[in-house]
Amino acid sequence: MTLLDVAIIGGGASGTTAAFHLANKNKNVCILEKNISTPVRVCGGGMSAAVQNWFPFQLMPIVDEVITTVEFSWRNTDKVISKLSGSAPFWIVKREKLDSFLLDQAMNSGCNLMTTFNVVNIKKNSNIWQVTAQDGRQIEAKAVVIADGSQSPWPKTFNLGPKKERFASTFSGRIKRKGNLTCETARFEFGLVQNGFAWAFPLNDEVNIGMGTFLDIKNSIPFDEILKLFLPDLGLAPSEVIGQQKKLRVWNGHSNLNGDGIILVGDAASLCDPFLAEGLRPALMSGFEAAKSLIYWLDGNINNLDAYTKAMKTNWGNSMAWGKRISQVFYRFPKVGYQLGIKRPTAPKRIAQILSGDMSYEDIATRVIKRLLFQNSSSYS
Ligand SMILES: Cc1cc2nc3c(=O)[nH]c(=O)nc-3n(C[C@H](O)[C@H](O)[C@H](O)COP(=O)(O)OP(=O)(O)OC[C@H]3O[C@@H](n4cnc5c(N)ncnc54)[C@H](O)[C@@H]3O)c2cc1C
Repeated sequence: MTLLDVAIIGGGASGTTAAFHLANKNKNVCILEKNISTPVRVCGGGMSAAVQNWFPFQLMPIVDEVITTVEFSWRNTDKVISKLSGSAPFWIVKREKLDSFLLDQAMNSGCNLMTTFNVVNIKKNSNIWQVTAQDGRQIEAKAVVIADGSQSPWPKTFNLGPKKERFASTFSGRIKRKGNLTCETARFEFGLVQNGFAWAFPLNDEVNIGMGTFLDIKNSIPFDEILKLFLPDLGLAPSEVIGQQKKLRVWNGHSNLNGDGIILVGDAASLCDPFLAEGLRPALMSGFEAAKSLIYWLDGNINNLDAYTKAMKTNWGNSMAWGKRISQVFYRFPKVGYQLGIKRPTAPKRIAQILSGDMSYEDIATRVIKRLLFQNSSSYS
């Protein structure tokens, strides 16, 4: 049996990104994917253009729509419209297109792929990782990247990731026409979903519809009821939606994302934004950062992978710590949040800047704190 440099469990956005960067530096890497080919994924497909930073090839060929305007509403009324600044800051992609494009790039760089490889066991034996599939196939590698998404059992097994997992309850679907959704406009609806929001993102000639609830996920989301209220406002009908529900693992505190020769990426690492469900940017960022640390480690330049956890904390986790606080306050008192947050003159611009990756929740919190301090000190003076 050939010893791989890295075995990647899962061929989604995070796994294929890590695979591309490792293969591109001539590492012997294989993606182990339980499905036969890229399945249609439950995802809105909204993605900050900032993700381009992590690839030497252009992603634009697989972008369905470039968003220039964001529209917010409260129960389909009280609408706020915001133009995005900068060039093409927010994109909508079809996930199946994005994932198969990244997989092709990884394979063109020399990565191998084993499909129908449903990983059921991962163990370490004298510094070698043994990964076993349900059908008995086994591979061996110097390192493993855990990229198998929100239902991954491995963080618990290896005592990595947040101590307590947190999930959002979501629904996502597609409609094969655009209704009255304006081109280049993404819609965010805040009043119809309890403790969450609904969205409509335009594709070339279709629409991605979805919703997520972020605080109380004991019950599944009543998507039928919400679709009945939301879709007519877009000139669409609930009977047109083909979709699925999914539990999405979201960020829940700083945690250790690596062990000795093992790294968690994407949803398996609980990186998804707990306020807006943005998971693609951290999936691609973590795939990139994981590959970077693994390359140094495999080349003997560093003797552990701790730099990966540190990079994800600095580049993503610090912002998510504020995203979690904002989410808990906003979704507990959404009407007040909408009036004071979204309807504040600068708020739509700020949300747009978060979506485009120009600003972090941390930047916003720092501004708010400064403003409060300034107001307090001037009221005493
Ligand atoms: C309804 C919904 C809407 C969303 N909308 C957006 C959005 O608009 N924008 C955004 O940025 N993010 C969005 N997200 C989040 C985003 O989809 C995820 O964060 C992203 O898919 C994470 O990628 P990943 O590669 O970590 O995991 P995944 O994309 O889930 O990939 C995991 C892969 O691992 C494979 N796998 C699983 N188990 C095994 C196993 N045992 N053996 C081998 N392979 C296995 C799976 O088949 C899959 O291919 C949304 C999520 C949901 C649920």
